[in-house]
Amino acid sequence: MTRPLLMIPGPVEFNDDVLAAMALPTASHVDPAFIAIFGQALADLRALFLADDSYQPLILAGSGTLAMDTAVANLVEAGDRVLVVDTGYFSQRLAAICRRYGGVVDLLSAAPGDTITPSQVADQLQQAAYGLVTITHVDTSTGVLTDVAGISAAAKAAGALVIVDGVCAAAGEEMRQQAWGVDVYFTASQKAIGVPPGLALLLASPAALGKWRARRTPVASYYSDWGEWLPIMAAYEGRRPAYFATPAVNLIVALNVSIHRILAEGMEKVFARHRLLGDAVKAGIAAMGLGQVPTHPAHAAHTLTCPRYPAGVDAGVLAHIRAAGAILAGGLHPAIRNEYFRIGHMGAVTANDVLATLAATERGLRQAGYAVEPGLALAATQGVLVGES
Ligand code: PMP
Repeated sequence: MTRPLLMIPGPVEFNDDVLAAMALPTASHVDPAFIAIFGQALADLRALFLADDSYQPLILAGSGTLAMDTAVANLVEAGDRVLVVDTGYFSQRLAAICRRYGGVVDLLSAAPGDTITPSQVADQLQQAAYGLVTITHVDTSTGVLTDVAGISAAAKAAGALVIVDGVCAAAGEEMRQQAWGVDVYFTASQKAIGVPPGLALLLASPAALGKWRARRTPVASYYSDWGEWLPIMAAYEGRRPAYFATPAVNLIVALNVSIHRILAEGMEKVFARHRLLGDAVKAGIAAMGLGQVPTHPAHAAHTLTCPRYPAGVDAGVLAHIRAAGAILAGGLHPAIRNEYFRIGHMGAVTANDVLATLAATERGLRQAGYAVEPGLALAATQGVLVGES
């Protein structure tokens, strides 16, 4: 009998109070009690992303890809020049969405595992009049963490708006939307936000709203159009009933529980906890002699780890690790898909979950024929957790 931990880079393990909230009887979307919950969740999004009341929150029923689609559909018009900072599979998805809405896209592409620096972006911004820069804060296909503060500053200096995909970063990696000059930051519920899949969360700056208001053409997506949603979000924040499309009531009730927990801990502590767990996992992986996809620790994410398979081991090891108690994910970046696997450690994941996952990984690797000394990874991970390495 196994009780495996879900340690993929989303969805992740969720807290019991969040799951229990999902099971409450479904309220009317215009029930005063639900209106208050939704209104609170919207306001709390500003506290999560560190921005003031001039920023506009949106919570929509849909996955992270809907959040991407919504940001782009409202801000990109035919002929707009977009610079996509490309650190992997999800950056390229943003590029594809920008093209779909008529954007003229240039990619500034890093090799898998590398990142793009603010000075590279500043140089490229000299080459054409870009109206928009997109950044993938953590590209889940490579485990690469990109310098959002530095690149946003470069974009601002060139007069471009900044959209950041924070799906694998929000409420995990350090992020200060207003201080860093990010115009639209978005995420989805199923990662560090700590709620089952199904919600797209976005926060838009006054400048992003200004760009949307100044559009020459209608938004091509009916469901994503801010013109439909802004009055709805304003109504919920003002505790008034409103309807455009039915909100995901149970998910929003659960979201409120999870956000409350995150804000009670405090964002600085949340960032520090993810740094510690991320460093602890990486120390354990390194102790077993495995390389990692990010080419330098300074740009490795803290929300997931992307270990390379050791010689003689392939994706077949994931079944052994699962049998040993941890569900991990295979590779995703097409250029290196069969060379690495992925461990998610964000949101409700605890230090003990991380230790159990490293233990399962050690046993799985031994089953696959890789002679790792038992306990080596655990000692290294525990060393980081107790602050001795
Ligand atoms: N961006 C990033 C960085 C992601 O990790 C993901 C999901 N793994 C997405 C976007 C897309 O989100 P979803 O699968 O919820 O549509």
